[in-house]
Amino acid sequence: MKRNLEIKSLFLKHFEGARTELVFKDLYELIVCVMLSAQCTDKRVNLITPNLFKAYPSVADLARANLASVKALIQTCSFFNNKAQNLIKMARAVCENFKGNIPLDQKDLQSLAGVGQKTANVVLIEWCGANVMAVDTHIFRVAHRLNLSKAKTPELVEADLTRIFKDNLNRLHQAMVLFGRYTCKAKNPLCESCFLTKLCKSKDKRA
Ligand code: SF4
Repeated sequence: MKRNLEIKSLFLKHFEGARTELVFKDLYELIVCVMLSAQCTDKRVNLITPNLFKAYPSVADLARANLASVKALIQTCSFFNNKAQNLIKMARAVCENFKGNIPLDQKDLQSLAGVGQKTANVVLIEWCGANVMAVDTHIFRVAHRLNLSKAKTPELVEADLTRIFKDNLNRLHQAMVLFGRYTCKAKNPLCESCFLTKLCKSKDKRA
């Protein structure tokens, strides 16, 4: 559909070279950042991780970590109790089942504690530039406002966006996250300065 292709090309044009706001220096740090970022802001994650990575600089260190100490280090993160447990379980499974190397296969990633489809896809997008979509709260909202999907779950929205856009999904993921975070915000979207305003018929659009 012509309109959808236009939306795609405008996202790619306006967010050329866009990158995640999470700060990481290797694959271990990336998976930890992405796990912590579930229902938490990237800003908060970036405040937490320097001390966490100082205490546990590798996946092997995290596998041997003390639960109470990890909880204390990430306590300002939402759901820190569960996340601390999952981080240690994830690290142990990486050491036991993958010789200490974070796997880069979607199924293998999803076999790790705390890693669902979205987390696995974000890791693959950020690390490999994989042609996959991952739907967070921002992309879910943007997809609905732009009538790219009417689906009720992130997984089904992901399937709709994958079918509609087909390629450059990694770049479109970055673009839609940043667009939802800073322009098409949940409250008070910046419709006046939005480059998609002509194509948007959302009831949330502000005149
Ligand atoms: S016009 Fe407003 S509601 Fe529509 S996509 Fe742009 S920011 Fe979002």
